[in-house]
Formats: sequence, C-alpha cells, structure tokens
Amino acid sequence: MRKKKVRGIARDTLRFILEASRSSLPVEFAGLLQTDEEIITEILILPGTENSRMSALVRLYMLPNMQVAGSVHSHPSGDLRPSEPDIIFFSRTGDYNIIAGPPFDEHSWVCYNAAGEKRDLPILDVQFKDDGFDDDFDEDFAGDFDDANAKGEGKH
Ligand code: ZN
Repeated sequence: MRKKKVRGIARDTLRFILEASRSSLPVEFAGLLQTDEEIITEILILPGTENSRMSALVRLYMLPNMQVAGSVHSHPSGDLRPSEPDIIFFSRTGDYNIIAGPPFDEHSWVCYNAAGEKRDLPILDVQFKDDGFDDDFDEDFAGDFDDANAKGEGKH
C-alpha cells in the first residue's frame, strides 16, 4: 500500500464527520479519508455496517488512482475502541483511522494507525478553495446518507 504523508485534518472536514456521524444515528457513519497537500480534506462515504463497509472498500480500490489516507466511522455506542473487524479494515485503508462517538464534538474522537494503535492527528485551520470537499463524493456510495449530504451542493 502507498503510504501518504499527512500533516493533519482540516477543521471543517472534522466538523463534517462529526455532523454526519450525529445525523446518521442510530446507524454508523463510515467513510474514507483523502488528502490534499498532506491535509485530510475529503471524505468518500461508505455504507455503514462492517460487512458492507469492507465490500465497498474493495470496490473502491478497483477504481484507478484511488488513494486514501485512512478511514472514519462512528461508534454510536460511544466506546471508541476499534473492534477486530475495525482493525482488519484499518490495515487495508491506511495509517489514519478515526472513530467518532457521542456527543460528536471536537474531543469525542480518536485516531488509530493501520495496526489499531492510537495516534495524534492535528486539527488544522485551512481555507478551502471553491466549495470544498463535496466535489468528490461518489454518488454510488452517498445514497444512504442523503441527510448527511443535504447541506452540500444539493445536486441529488
Ligand atoms: Zn468500529
């Protein structure tokens, strides 16, 4: 797997993750993290359950030029420790894997590396060019999360 250098996550992207996680309740929110200039700024949304997440990931990796820095998903239970399927998933996605839980604020998430060990992920204040990370949403995977996307550009 290609290793990507990552300096941190854009604050707006983290806020999007937390909002999407909250509005997905009681279902899990899941996505892949993509970087722009070494900063995580984009989310590709995946179906939420652990089985569907894995098969969607396999399909995504068949796309050309698919590079991800890691993943994000929510644990509605609030227990932020990765499950065994999570750690298998992390080993395939990359070195930055966020698990978010209630109350979904800037302190209620943890980042893990590909081995499932906690790691730091700085929150960075960056300016987005144009309208930000919604451009790269894959419509196929966004279907179940229309509510989460509704604040986007409204092209559904
Ligand atoms: Zn999990």
